[in-house]
Amino acid sequence: MPQPIARDQSRTLRSPQDLARAGLVQAEAVRALEAVAARYATAITPAMAALIKPDDPADPIALQYIPDVAEMITAPHELGDPTADAPFTPVKGVVHRYPDRALLKPLLACPVYCRFCFRREKVGPDGGLLTEAELQEAFLWFEGKTAIREVILTGGDPLMLSARRLGEILGRLAGMAHIETLRIHTRVPVADPARITAALVGAMRQAKPVFIAVHANHAREFTPDAAVALARLADAGVPLLGQSVLLRGVNDDAPAMEALLRAMIRNRIKPYYLHSLDPAPGTARFQVPEEDGLALMAALRGRLPGHALPLFMHETPLGGGKKPVE
Ligand SMILES: *Cc1c(COP(=O)(O)O)cnc(C)c1O
Ligand code: SF4
Repeated sequence: MPQPIARDQSRTLRSPQDLARAGLVQAEAVRALEAVAARYATAITPAMAALIKPDDPADPIALQYIPDVAEMITAPHELGDPTADAPFTPVKGVVHRYPDRALLKPLLACPVYCRFCFRREKVGPDGGLLTEAELQEAFLWFEGKTAIREVILTGGDPLMLSARRLGEILGRLAGMAHIETLRIHTRVPVADPARITAALVGAMRQAKPVFIAVHANHAREFTPDAAVALARLADAGVPLLGQSVLLRGVNDDAPAMEALLRAMIRNRIKPYYLHSLDPAPGTARFQVPEEDGLALMAALRGRLPGHALPLFMHETPLGGGKKPVE
């Protein structure tokens, strides 16, 4: 008999054994899932584990975070680096594809590991923290690139950094005369809301605006704790944007997507992008045909306020950048 979920568990579940003990996978499945977890980082926070209904085989929260043996199969069209970051990396941790903005990835750890992640070949708990020297090299690169007006912190998840470290990085970038805005892409406010402390919010107070793009894919991810975390950020004057991935079985019908977008606007998040899934290895079970995504967007148009509609975007081949699906 699987154990009921311990609602009060205080630590992130990281192994198939942990998941079985919490009743989130069957004991018989553990061995096969260990191979998946050895290949792709696996973690689910207590906040997200508590949302899963273990007797629902199609639970939209479980689908996003619980590993599946299907991940061991890489479809012919799937790519290790689907957004082609590597050829656009001038120095370690930086991706520069557009003239006016570039990414800085200070670390590759995340609060949870999403099974559909486009950077799944790179992200993980013990890789990718830039050394002090590498970070300084990245800062020097940004200093020399005066056409860049926005730095986007991503990873991994930048809100896994300590408040002090994050504040130092934002402060250094905000101090560059040509940098006008900063942006942080994160799943922390929904996946691990307890990390949004007063100190972390304080780190957003910079001489230049700091925007936060919150990654969420299902209305249920907006727990009461997530609402508190998001209100702290919004009350501090941080503009909140929403970004989601269109995922089969999670948000690919109009009621689920409507509920997600309404949850965002109730939490002062302006829905920004709905991403078509990037073909990362072993993610085929999440793929939604783009025609279906376009039909979904059309169905939403009359159902929601205009400001609640995100742009439906995909990554163009060979690192051509993001474009609206049409
Ligand atoms: C996605 C991305 C950005 C941000 O693009 P926006 O359309 O401004 O959200 C910037 N640089 C790179 C390399 C990206 O992949
Ligand atoms: S939080 Fe973002 S970077 Fe991390 S696993 Fe999920 S999608 Fe990938």
